[in-house]
Amino acid sequence: MVTAAARPLWAPLLADELLRRIARLRLVVTDVDGVLTDGGIYFSESGEALKRFSVRDGMGVERLRAQGIETAFLTRESSAIVKRRAEKLGIRHCYLGVADKKAFLPELLAQAGVGDDEIAYIGDDVNDEEIMTVVAERGLVGAPLDAIPSVLRRAHHCCALPGGCGAFRDFAEWILGLRSQDTATEVRQPSTVLKKEVR
Ligand SMILES: [Mg+2]
Repeated sequence: MVTAAARPLWAPLLADELLRRIARLRLVVTDVDGVLTDGGIYFSESGEALKRFSVRDGMGVERLRAQGIETAFLTRESSAIVKRRAEKLGIRHCYLGVADKKAFLPELLAQAGVGDDEIAYIGDDVNDEEIMTVVAERGLVGAPLDAIPSVLRRAHHCCALPGGCGAFRDFAEWILGLRSQDTATEVRQPSTVLKKEVR
């Protein structure tokens, strides 16, 4: 059931347009805290922070790469843990300490060598709203199940799983599933409801 707060800002993409965007996709940009993690940060006595990642999301990165789609990290935080996670997954485009994601997007695209119609973005919080609005014009945008309502409203795909618990994998599988479709008539419309089958 779609609540008023989660009602999409725009109509779902028509199947033909959705397929076109999926077919030309070359880069998935993901926020980190709240998407790849549950948003929690663990502190030890020495103050060292720990974050928890899902190996299933890591598999999503690999499965996208196998189809020629790279993943980029884009986060406001400057975290050595995130940098290490990116290295572990072989991610070449890891942008830390980016306060204004929308303003940074042109530089990100230039460094990655992709166009603004060749990207997808997944985020969960207010600092993702502006970049999501821009990416949604020509690309694809997603949000974890537990993203804030104003972000969910911007998403073409609302994940069935929350951040840190497979949301990125859900987004990746949605992309890969649509890529494997041969005809527009067989394509599912972007999910506009929060509840769907859990993979
Ligand atoms: Mg976040």
